[in-house]
Amino acid sequence: MATSPPTTSATPDAAPAPRPGGGHGAEDRRPAGGRFTYAPAPEATDHLRLRDRYELFIDGQFRPPAAGEHRLSINPATEEPLAEVAEAGPEDVERAVAAAARAFRSWSRLPGGRRGRYLFRLARLIQERQRELAVVESLDGGKPIRESRDVDIPLVAQHFFYHAGWADKLDHAFPGAPWRPLGVCGQVIPWNFPLMMLAWKIAPALATGNTVVLKPAETTPLTALLFAELCQQAGLPDGVVNVVTGGGPVGAQLVRAPGVAKVAFTGSTAVGKEIQRALAGSGKRLSLELGGKAAHVVFDDAPMDQAVEGVINGIYFNQGHVCCAGSRLLLQESMAEPFLRRLTRRMARLRVGDPLDKNTDVGAINSREQLGRITELVASGVAQGARLYQPPCELPSRGFWFPPSLFTDVAPSHRIAREEIFGPVLAVLTFRTPAEAVERANNTRYGLSAGVWTQSGARILWMSQRMRAGVVWANTYNQFDAAAPFGGFRESGFGREGGVQGLAAYVERG
Ligand code: NAP
Ligand code: MG
Repeated sequence: MATSPPTTSATPDAAPAPRPGGGHGAEDRRPAGGRFTYAPAPEATDHLRLRDRYELFIDGQFRPPAAGEHRLSINPATEEPLAEVAEAGPEDVERAVAAAARAFRSWSRLPGGRRGRYLFRLARLIQERQRELAVVESLDGGKPIRESRDVDIPLVAQHFFYHAGWADKLDHAFPGAPWRPLGVCGQVIPWNFPLMMLAWKIAPALATGNTVVLKPAETTPLTALLFAELCQQAGLPDGVVNVVTGGGPVGAQLVRAPGVAKVAFTGSTAVGKEIQRALAGSGKRLSLELGGKAAHVVFDDAPMDQAVEGVINGIYFNQGHVCCAGSRLLLQESMAEPFLRRLTRRMARLRVGDPLDKNTDVGAINSREQLGRITELVASGVAQGARLYQPPCELPSRGFWFPPSLFTDVAPSHRIAREEIFGPVLAVLTFRTPAEAVERANNTRYGLSAGVWTQSGARILWMSQRMRAGVVWANTYNQFDAAAPFGGFRESGFGREGGVQGLAAYVERG
């Protein structure tokens, strides 16, 4: 992933200079010690065309929900409302599934090249409106604009381009046996990468001739609704993509709807398990992308400054709201102390604040509820005896915020070492030998991702063969590509998204 380099330098010997987030004054920007702070660099919002109210996107049209209910989506950085969004009911979900089923008859029979053309069109429209999409993503979800602009939206476009390319070559993706699309796909996505998760779901489904009903997360529905506008703009046949907004119950209705042939879910392990139970025996195909508690292993021969940057990116990227976040740092004991000194100095330079400021590294927590979860887990870490470090950091008075945090003196039994925090909180453990590193890394019920830093290529191979994770990054972290399959083991779920493996999840073969 284009892990946007932090705006501040990580000079190891510099004194930590706490920098307030948000509203940087234009007066004298030299704090004590003579270091310059940053001038505000807010992204413009005057090009936005948000409506006051968004309806459900069913059968190619925006339609009010049967019960007429709407809920506000707010900006978590300010708690200000952005737009009213429809709350779907069972009748609306049924209508959306029926529309997708009707559309499937002709969409599934279109030559692949024609489907590919629609996907290319969507990819180009995403590129054309990327500034607007990036700003709305940051406003609705709280992530820094540098991330939505440089990482999320480019990857969204890439995903559509990649799958557009496959649409007329599927006989090469699945050689030797006939393949068929599955039908209507019910797709439920979380709030941490709203448009990217939409792309991961919709692009492969459409490329292979399926139709879709998608439910975005309640706190971040807006970019999915802008995407619905793009579907209209691209002239996508009615009903091929439908978007039903609302809370968890809408997702529960969608995955249970009898007309749905395939369910693709990304979200928490608890809800994933509930869906798996509900679908047992139904004959529906299911893929689950769930939580994680990734080990990020650093050996004493690793290039230290690069590893520090990798660790920072691994946990503080997107406020730690990342399923594959490197939330357990395993440091080789012989270098743990100097490494932690550099890491904490680097943390003190992270700029927390206004997500729309281009200098911001860490934005707002997505919701009050998520902030509550993070706060509770961090309190448990302190209560269980771990030592908490938080750099001096002025947080804005409104909105939902949590400072970059790091725990040392962590025991593997602590909740902060076992449970997914899904926030900017790193738990540090140590190890002595590679075998111990593997044992500690695998001491989790999850298995989504892992990272390893060492100069030794042989050790990278040795470690990656033994760490039980769907993705192992070596001397880097958070790299994504539409051609590379992504997914988990154990309680991180099953099925892969991206690459040929991701396409295979949307077809029947033989
Ligand atoms: P969540 O509560 O499981 O929600 C995910 C989605 O499911 C949301 O759209 C949610 O709707 C909906 N939902 C809630 N209850 C449901 C139910 N009973 N049946 C069907 N759908 C239901 O998870 P979250 O807190 O939003 O997201 C964070 C989790 O997602 C983390 O655990 C993270 O690790 C995981 N995640 C995994 C990946 C991956 O690729 N493996 C990627 C991103 C996130 P509402 O939002 O309206 O409640
Ligand atoms: Mg919101």
